Amino acid sequence: TYVIAEPCVDLLDRACIEECPVDCIYEGNRKLYIHPDECVDCGACEPVCPVEAIFYEDDVPEEWAAYTKADVDFFDDL
Ligand code: SF4
Repeated sequence: TYVIAEPCVDLLDRACIEECPVDCIYEGNRKLYIHPDECVDCGACEPVCPVEAIFYEDDVPEEWAAYTKADVDFFDDL
């Protein structure tokens, strides 16, 4: 799955939502979230993010590692 990290917080540009072929990017209060079970790893969202907030799960920078779990938890809590 792809993960949306810190640069998205309080920005929520939403360009990625338009690109996702399976509509698996959802809006939270402060950031957007990618549903880990619905994401098909196509990578289409990554280049359109204006702040480079989107990473493949194995490529999330160390300082933003917590965001991988945050995206999973967001959907667990729904
Ligand atoms: Fe959607 Fe593809 Fe991005 Fe996954 S990688 S969130 S399927 S656009």
